[in-house]
Order: sequence, then structure tokens, then C-alpha cells
Amino acid sequence: MGEKNLKISIAHLYPKLLNLYGDIGNIITLKKRCEWRGIEIEFEEINIGDKIKEHDIYFIGGGQDKQQEEVADELYRQKEFLTEERDRNAVFLGICGGYQLFGHYYQPHDKEKLKGISLMDAYTIAGDKRFIGNVTAKTDFLSPETLVGFENHSGLTYLQGDTKPLATVSVGNGNNGKDKTEGGRYKNVFGTYLHGSFLPKNPHFADYMIELALEKRYGEKFQLEKLDDKLELDTHTTLVGKAY
Ligand code: GLN
Repeated sequence: MGEKNLKISIAHLYPKLLNLYGDIGNIITLKKRCEWRGIEIEFEEINIGDKIKEHDIYFIGGGQDKQQEEVADELYRQKEFLTEERDRNAVFLGICGGYQLFGHYYQPHDKEKLKGISLMDAYTIAGDKRFIGNVTAKTDFLSPETLVGFENHSGLTYLQGDTKPLATVSVGNGNNGKDKTEGGRYKNVFGTYLHGSFLPKNPHFADYMIELALEKRYGEKFQLEKLDDKLELDTHTTLVGKAY
């Protein structure tokens, strides 16, 4: 099947509340990298009060504790549906605060624990300092292997059970600054602390997500045609190993 007749649907979850440090750039990247290949996009923005419907890709950005509180209740009310979506191999990407809500809970400083939707076996507790700076981390499934981005969080995330790290930190802190893990993955649910935004500087991961979304929708594996990513990958390479 040529890429011309393909379609994927993308939901942007709570962009009015969770969209820190330009996380909207991740949606723009997914849309453009489909458009450049003639893959049709159905797009839906989900805000407080909206019922989340079936999509191929769900994206949620980061935010301060207060915005996370507002979103956590909405997400929790739709936990059963989102778990069914995970088990139908829908692709999820959560950045930082959004990632934290993919786990069982996020325990902020001096506030009530926020319930997560347990899409992955992980939990987050607020640390006593903020991790702020560039991150380079290495995957075992991408080419190039590296992921780069910018972190700004006090939450410390710990992975358990079948939830695996997205990558191993070589520069920066990642999940908790201790176990050298960055992000998490369970089935097609991905979380990362990398802002910046994440996908424009990691086009290979954006394509990986699009291929998974096409496989979920059409029931067969896809290898997308390569794009001219010189600018994106030059930017990526410039940041690899860069601390400040
Ligand atoms: N409020 C969360 C923390 O500080 C997430 C921050 C973010 O999304 N950048 O860990």
C-alpha cells in the first residue's frame, strides 16, 4: 500500500493545561512528517470535559503540579477506556508531567497524591531539587541510537515490572538521577522527561511512532520512506553529549 492512501488519527490531550516548553512542537512534527509523505491526519484536541475517543496516537505534554492536578482527575475518569486503547496497541507519548500521569501516581511536595492511569508500571515522587538541563540518552531500538532534549522536573520516576526504560542516560538525570534510566515504555506507551520540544530534534523517534500507529490501524508493519532530515539530524548531533 503506497503511503498516499494511509491515514492516522491523533489526539492532543489537554493542551490548554499541559503544554510546557513548546511541547506542541511534538504534535506539529507528527503532523508534518505525515503530511510530507501524503499520510492523511485526523486530529482532535481534548480539553477538560471532553470524552476521549478512539485514536491511533495520544499525546500529552508537561506542566506544573497545579495543571497536573486538573488533568489527573479527568484522565482517571477515563482510565478504563485508555487502558483498553493501550491494549489495542494505540501509541501514547507523554512528556514529563504527562508521562508522570501514565504511572500509578505522582506524589507532589506537601500535596495530595495525584492518581495516575497506570498505563505503565511506574510511580513518581517529588524530589528535593529540580533537574534542569540538557539530556542525552541511548536507546537499544533506534538509529541513531541517541535521544536528546531538555529536562526540567523535580519528580523522580521509578519503573517497575514489565515497564522498561526508553533509554539510558549518558548526559543529564533522566527519570530520577540515580538509576541512569530515562523515560519508560510498556507496549506502545512511551514517556519521557525530554522537552525542547522532543520530536523535532528526534525525527527517528517520530517516525517510529508513526510506523507503530500505522501498524495498529492497518494490522501490518510499515517502513516509512525516508525524508531529507539533514537539518533535524544536524541539530540532533549538535546536542548529543552537550550538557550546557
Ligand atoms: N510538575 C512536574 C515536576 O516538576 C512535571 C514538570 C514538567 O512537566 N516539566 O516534576
